[in-house]
Amino acid sequence: MNKFEFLIIGGGPAAITICKNLAGKKRIAVIRPEDHSMIYCAMPYVIEGILEFKKTLKKDELVTDTGATLIRDFVMNVDFDNKIVFTKAEKEYQYENLIIASGAEAILPHIEGIRLDGVMTMKTEEDLREIIKRVEGGVRQAVVVGAGAIGIELAQALNATGLETHLVDIFDTILPNMMDPDMIIPVQEKLGNAGVKLHLDERVARLLGDSYVTGVEFDNGKRVELEPKSLVVFAVGMKPSVDFLRESALAIGKTGIIVDEYMRTNIEGVYAVGDCCEFTSAISGEVALGKLATNAVPMARLLAKNILGQNRQYDGFYNGAATKVSDYFVGSTGLTERAAKERGFDYVVGKAKMTTAFPIMPFAKEIEIKLLVDSTSEMIIGGQVVSGEPATDKVDQITMAMQYDIPIRRMAQMSYSSQPYQSFFPANNLLVQAAENIISKLDQ
Ligand SMILES: Cc1cc2nc3c(=O)[nH]c(=O)nc-3n(C[C@H](O)[C@H](O)[C@H](O)COP(=O)(O)OP(=O)(O)OC[C@H]3O[C@@H](n4cnc5c(N)ncnc54)[C@H](O)[C@@H]3O)c2cc1C
Repeated sequence: MNKFEFLIIGGGPAAITICKNLAGKKRIAVIRPEDHSMIYCAMPYVIEGILEFKKTLKKDELVTDTGATLIRDFVMNVDFDNKIVFTKAEKEYQYENLIIASGAEAILPHIEGIRLDGVMTMKTEEDLREIIKRVEGGVRQAVVVGAGAIGIELAQALNATGLETHLVDIFDTILPNMMDPDMIIPVQEKLGNAGVKLHLDERVARLLGDSYVTGVEFDNGKRVELEPKSLVVFAVGMKPSVDFLRESALAIGKTGIIVDEYMRTNIEGVYAVGDCCEFTSAISGEVALGKLATNAVPMARLLAKNILGQNRQYDGFYNGAATKVSDYFVGSTGLTERAAKERGFDYVVGKAKMTTAFPIMPFAKEIEIKLLVDSTSEMIIGGQVVSGEPATDKVDQITMAMQYDIPIRRMAQMSYSSQPYQSFFPANNLLVQAAENIISKLDQ
């Protein structure tokens, strides 16, 4: 039986990060079932025709060039007492240390009609191939359920290919877990203007049809009628891929494998990283949703560095995320107002609106920022950005302020740079102005 110093279950970004960081230093094997690892984030842009399919497929060399052994198989069971992994191909592998990086899979709700032809999710290479096949095969209508980042990106992609596209969410604004209504409503209107038919504040109760899906019915009886062979894609969240571990002694919470700040599970020599884990909010300490590569990769890097002798600790998840809606780049981090209220925070909001270049420059675009600050500690607990230019740098600056405990009064004194192409006039800075706005309210 083959034995490995580190056996990794899964071939996504978390697994690849570990291989890269431990390259040549440990005897590693990666077990994953797919022909290719994928850049999932880019899937909508293949549908939209911006990217070639093959560009989203990661090369096996990302793993094998690190010296790791790549095994194409699926783990069915783990004997944690004897440190053996059993696979679908009826192979057994022994390990000294096990790293579970089995990721997450898209949720399909248990509602009537969910097994009808045309009803899908979007996570795997097969999902993407199937959606493209159906689009190229002449599908004319699509319903996307879930107006989070994946749902929005998919709906826009389908709409751009000419399909009549409906987007449904139980909340009354899009991106409900990322953005507050005051920031997102103007953006949402653009999505509607682009032709996406929004059904907000609606809950899908059942899907209609005999063999093909021919409609979506909401719990108030309203319907979206569809011609046969239409698409209904659920983008309503992810659940951890841990079913194969359920019968074991491994501690698994509601949203994934329970790990400590070193990525250790309750079983010695067994670690877990990425979307398969349950993670907590660095702000509220509660279990946090939002499975993202920008959380999976840092968790994996931390574990790899610690395996090499460092002593890093995971801070928790800040939930920094971004997407693109119409011509707007949208991003957020930390808590929205709704989330802050639900958690009992007493907070103050500050906003600033400027331009991405000197406003006298012909290409300057609008950018708006919103910060939430806890009234007692005066620390930032959330931020949102809507911009005509990419927003991730601004989102990350806010996350950094939260992560490294920069009080809002210090942020108001932030030293910044300015140049006609790249920022507002030197006279002001977005974060500084939003901070001053909050301080004036705190001091009232
Ligand atoms: C359409 C889409 C867009 C996205 N956009 C973004 C974005 O813009 N930004 C961002 O940060 N994140 C984005 N994400 C999320 C991001 O892709 C995930 O957070 C990330 O892939 C998680 O990495 P992971 O390695 O933990 O798990 P995964 O990437 O899910 O990989 C898990 C691996 O484990 C394998 N596996 C599972 N069970 C077993 C088993 N029993 N045996 C062997 N192998 C197993 C799987 O087959 C897979 O290879 C997006 C996701 C999707 C679907």
